[in-house]
Amino acid sequence: MPYVKVAIDVPVATLFDYCAPHVTAADIGCRVRVPFGRKRLLGVIMEVGATPSLDPAKVRPAGDVLRDAPPLPLALLELLSFCSAYYHHPIGEVVHASLPGWLRIERKAPASSRPVTLTSDGDVALDQALHRAPAMRSLLTRVRTFGLLSEQRIRELRPAERRLLRQAIGHGWLTPLDAGTVQAPSTVLPSADCTSSATAEKPDRRLNAEQQRAMQAIVADASTFHCWLLHGVTGSGKTEVYLEVMHRVLDNGKQVLFLVPEIGLTPQLEQRIRARFPKHALVTMHSNMASGQRASHWAQAHSGAARIVVGARSAIFAPMGNLGLIVVDEEHDSSFKQMDGIRYSARDLAVWRARQLNVPVILGSATPSLESYQAALAGRYRKLALPQRATSIPLPDVRMIGVNREGSRGGLGPSVIDAIRQRIERSEQVLVFINRRGYAPVLICGDCGWCSPCHRCSARLVLHKNRQRMACHHCGHEEIVPVACGECGNADLHPLGYGTQRVEATLRTALPAARIMRVDRDTTRGRNTWAEMRASITRHDVDILVGTQLLSKGHDFPNLSLVCVLNADQSLYSTDFRAAEPLFAQLTQVAGRAGRAQGRGAVLIQSEFPMHPLYRAVQAHDYDGFAQALLEERRQTDLPPFSHHAVLRAEALQMEHALAFLHQCVHATKGITGDVIVFDPIAAPMQRLKGRERAQLLVQSKSRPLLHAFLDQWLKKLTDVRANRVRWSLDVDPLAI
Ligand SMILES: [Zn+2]
Ligand SMILES: [Zn+2]
Repeated sequence: MPYVKVAIDVPVATLFDYCAPHVTAADIGCRVRVPFGRKRLLGVIMEVGATPSLDPAKVRPAGDVLRDAPPLPLALLELLSFCSAYYHHPIGEVVHASLPGWLRIERKAPASSRPVTLTSDGDVALDQALHRAPAMRSLLTRVRTFGLLSEQRIRELRPAERRLLRQAIGHGWLTPLDAGTVQAPSTVLPSADCTSSATAEKPDRRLNAEQQRAMQAIVADASTFHCWLLHGVTGSGKTEVYLEVMHRVLDNGKQVLFLVPEIGLTPQLEQRIRARFPKHALVTMHSNMASGQRASHWAQAHSGAARIVVGARSAIFAPMGNLGLIVVDEEHDSSFKQMDGIRYSARDLAVWRARQLNVPVILGSATPSLESYQAALAGRYRKLALPQRATSIPLPDVRMIGVNREGSRGGLGPSVIDAIRQRIERSEQVLVFINRRGYAPVLICGDCGWCSPCHRCSARLVLHKNRQRMACHHCGHEEIVPVACGECGNADLHPLGYGTQRVEATLRTALPAARIMRVDRDTTRGRNTWAEMRASITRHDVDILVGTQLLSKGHDFPNLSLVCVLNADQSLYSTDFRAAEPLFAQLTQVAGRAGRAQGRGAVLIQSEFPMHPLYRAVQAHDYDGFAQALLEERRQTDLPPFSHHAVLRAEALQMEHALAFLHQCVHATKGITGDVIVFDPIAAPMQRLKGRERAQLLVQSKSRPLLHAFLDQWLKKLTDVRANRVRWSLDVDPLAI
């Protein structure tokens, strides 16, 4: 009697056994209807023929196998199993999270409202299969004859034909034609302005000597797994190297997966890749897509009709069966790590997936993560350096402006204002970077020190003067601006500190003739807003940009020659041992915006600590020196990458409940052997969030295998710990502790 093991979307860390005489090995990766308790659910078949782990007499029979969509590739199932085991997250939830919505629940594939066309798979199916499926044959033949099936024709289809259409899309035989693959996520829309950056890129594709060397090194060894760390300064032309390598891989008939950190960057890059490979279909994948589009892109990646998938974090689970290369651009970016639910790192999974498939993976960055950098130093990754900019324009000149020495009015020192004025007079653009939106981060009472706290979070309400609101940037709570102190009734409240709105106001007063645009999450809401703003920046309708990290990377504004950085010091106060790393990366990125097309750019960093070693390294463009010094510190203190972390987080309405739970978890470690340090439970750095108190427990080991062996045993015991009124989660390789 054959048995199957099925992944079911329930928070239980196991596969479930069913008996299924009608199932064969070819059904692995298909969805199957199964009874579960009193319900009937949809699961995914992970194994066939395995001996059941419980008494065979108790194994229930599985229902129908759904073959309307092709099975998930076996290699993808392995990746999902690895992800589940490594991040200690229930396999069923991992598998189901990777599926597009319509496959997760029993629902029919969405009908396309867009015209559809035949894919190459559809072509083959029509010629070689389908002899016993006359209705499907006739539908596909119709599409082949006319080249496509128009929206009008689709609307006229009979219900049975619509079902066939859905099935054909599910199989990857037909694909909706989207003009819309370029259509984008809510905040960003690629439009005419993207073409300027696409054409400005590089009309001739010649690589300079360093790019050439990097490209050839990868291509020469492209048929086996290597993890390449492409460390190139901003403007060094890393993308050009990716594209040249992709070119070779695509020519060999393979697919390419290209991961990018931010949805906001995808449209420009997507445009550039499309322009380079007009003959190869490209689809995007990210979590903000409409479900129909997501389903269609997923099917195209699966069938091989799409040769290139460009996507954010979640695209690491793209069901590509013929993958020849993975690129992870800006590999240091924290958005590759999912911070809730399944807390995976798409970058780390990319390396695993490439190794499993024996194909190369390229991790690219101007400021690699210390983990990747150390792996390259240790010889596990192969490092390729692009130390020069691809153009003849040198890296910008970075200068420190001491705030204490010269004082600052309205957030900007007089020499910064002067420098901005000079650039504007020369018809150049200036970016003023301050990574805080709103007017002022706190409203303070001069009498008693009350400082506008959020009642739900360990945070202060930010003054948004334009809207006359106080807003919490953590939980979204808003209220009107108080007229008097919440504590003592004093009516004399002062805004303290600076945000984008206040800096904008200062600049309007100091430079009344300048055309100023503020770019932050408050001004870029709405579908086309950012695209329109970009276009007007490119047209030089703007002299000064005041913006947050939205502006720090990926955008090339040819007239921008000066970048002023305000308030970077904030991160120097952080207690997180990792804080220096993202600060260096962010400053390097934002500095890299200066002088990319015209002459050498300048960067002014306003700080109370102009001699701080981190700033000196940014000034010297000395990533290597900075990284090596940090690594030495980490080595001496046994911190990652020289040890490995997992954090058990707990939250409850009352702190004592969260801590009591964690203390029980510490107790549960008794009897588990292994070279692992279990620290005492403590309150989380942000103790209160959205009305819940948060605590955490750090586990550290010098050995990754030992840490995981420990976690395996520990988690089994934790199922017995009573978690009354407590929500908890485990985060392996956390980015913040
Ligand atoms: Zn007061
Ligand atoms: Zn709040």
